[in-house]
Amino acid sequence: AVASEISVALAGNPNAGKTTVFNAITGSHQHVGNYPGVTVEKKEGRRAVGETSVHVVDLPGTYSLTAYSLEEVVARNFVIDERPDVVIDVVDASNLERNLYLTTQFIELGVPVVVALNMMDVAESMGRSIDIELLSELLGVPVIATVASKSEGVEDLLRVAITVARERRLPARDVSYGRELESHIREITEIVDAAGGLPGVPSRWVALKLLEDDEEVRSDVERDIPGGQDLLERVRRVRAHLETVIGDDAELALADRRYGFINGACAEAVTSTTPTAVDWTERIDQIVTSRVLGIPIFLVLMWAMFELVFRLGAPPMG
Ligand code: GDP
Ligand code: MG
Repeated sequence: AVASEISVALAGNPNAGKTTVFNAITGSHQHVGNYPGVTVEKKEGRRAVGETSVHVVDLPGTYSLTAYSLEEVVARNFVIDERPDVVIDVVDASNLERNLYLTTQFIELGVPVVVALNMMDVAESMGRSIDIELLSELLGVPVIATVASKSEGVEDLLRVAITVARERRLPARDVSYGRELESHIREITEIVDAAGGLPGVPSRWVALKLLEDDEEVRSDVERDIPGGQDLLERVRRVRAHLETVIGDDAELALADRRYGFINGACAEAVTSTTPTAVDWTERIDQIVTSRVLGIPIFLVLMWAMFELVFRLGAPPMG
């Protein structure tokens, strides 16, 4: 008999290894359908762990959780509306900085998250060494190293995900945006809070999305909050003020600070050991793209290609 059920959502950038983790967890117990109302594929699976039945959903691959693409809206609304007990964020360790952007989005959304630091074999072959414990501490969420294609670390990942789900453990840190932005974020958070907020999401997240002028959140505020129009008008004024102060688009400024947070964490937790293979391609790049030699090398190569084509081509043409 099944004593309890835990729902897990698998998220991650395209090609980070989500489906591989999904298969490693669920084996052949899978079901493929669509998300309601859209033609985005929804894969679900099950896995029994002792008395617990773990239900896993493979979310669409996304780089962020904005309202700009259907995949991102589907992934975001699933997490907000279906409230999975834990999100496993599959991160490509060989492309850490870019992949962690999505992680910051889950941290802000305030849902229980475990990072699967996947492709550790690739990261190692690139000479990257990652201090997992430190990275976990800096991000404020558990991080488990995996090589999903060899099923390495997947059982650990599942065990930690179940623990986080049972404890409903939330991220231990906020992404910090610096003094100027923070004061405006706080101002809007208070306005949202005073209006009662939106169901199921932190007011700070609503504030951040409104600063980004997120279309979906804007219409949610209009629909669900009494006096929402008034709130949006106040937010618009705060945003306009912020943009004059920082001299930049608010959405870009926020993204910039998120990358600052990520780069800071990576600078501390990641060390490059053997810069071998990368060195070679860099050296070649330096020569063929050099200001002085670049064009002559290009011309010589083009000439060599013409020569080759005409010499090799002459006999058959004859
Ligand atoms: P998704 O787009 O996130 O679902 O990514 P997939 O699960 O389809 O994986 C993309 C590719 O990466 C596939 O060819 C996998 O076999 C491969 N892959 C997944 N995990 C690992 C890993 O840990 N190491 C290596 N070297 N390859 C992996
Ligand atoms: Mg996939």
